[in-house]
Amino acid sequence: MNLILLKLKEVFSIKVGIPGGLLYYRYETFINTFLEELEIESIFSTETNKEILDMGVSCCVNDACLPMKIFHGHAAALNEKCDYLLIPRIMKCENSESICPKFCGLPEMVMSGIKRKEGVITYPLYLNRNKEIKHYLRKIGKDLEIQENKIMAAYKKAVNNHKLQIQGIKDQGYRFTIFLGGHPYNLYDRFANMNLIHKLHSYGIGVITEERVSDNEKEAEIKPLMKKPYWLFYKNNYGAGKYLVKDQGIDGIIYISSFSCGIDSITIEMLKNDIGEFPFLILKIDEHSGEAGIDTRIEAFADMLERRKLH
Ligand code: SF4
Repeated sequence: MNLILLKLKEVFSIKVGIPGGLLYYRYETFINTFLEELEIESIFSTETNKEILDMGVSCCVNDACLPMKIFHGHAAALNEKCDYLLIPRIMKCENSESICPKFCGLPEMVMSGIKRKEGVITYPLYLNRNKEIKHYLRKIGKDLEIQENKIMAAYKKAVNNHKLQIQGIKDQGYRFTIFLGGHPYNLYDRFANMNLIHKLHSYGIGVITEERVSDNEKEAEIKPLMKKPYWLFYKNNYGAGKYLVKDQGIDGIIYISSFSCGIDSITIEMLKNDIGEFPFLILKIDEHSGEAGIDTRIEAFADMLERRKLH
């Protein structure tokens, strides 16, 4: 009897698709723990590759940035394989900072792009209040017919694991250290950035990312600004970059930015204006970026750091 029930559960188990793009890079541990704890059958897209990028480019609007196109590709790759597709509509980030408006309209963009009308979890998600996060998860639980007490237990475990996870990179033992600025989906998607971190290491350049600068240190750099930064990744990258330059702990800055990203344009200009003369390389990426161009610029930057050290 038990065997029959188990088989039925197997046959009818609901599959949830998790596109591995955008802020999945930031909340991966939380999402994975939550789903595992609830024993939800989840399907994850593979790491970004050429096929995923091509699918994204073909189903996303032309003038969207590269990370948006990549996310569309991940969603398209899962479209036929899952009963539900999880596409959070992120409205606010932790500490009430705002996020790019494209995140609020992401479900509609993707649903229209991949031509899927149903089976998409699109509830708004406010990450600045625990109450709201629980509310969001309860709604998902209701859709998937999971009891509330189980949802809350899985939430607690997911929060704990997320807190235990060390975010960001702080390399040690390299000849040079640079601040690597940018959004997590550009920094950690090895296909999108053409394995940038590995390339830097091969030139003896280690990196620090914004997650390794404390909130207090970032806040102290932001305080003198006329207006408090509105966007989460502007605040994080500006605050961390400025702190690290002042602290003298780095030899240069490389900022990896998506072509046509308004938030990056402001962040880069503000940072450039406020740090004075300092080695600063901006790498713009989109689906047409060629690896040879990136390689040449990194090589030239590494040469410049070397000359600076010698003289
Ligand atoms: S913040 Fe910039 S890179 Fe990120 S989704 Fe918005 S436009 Fe794209």
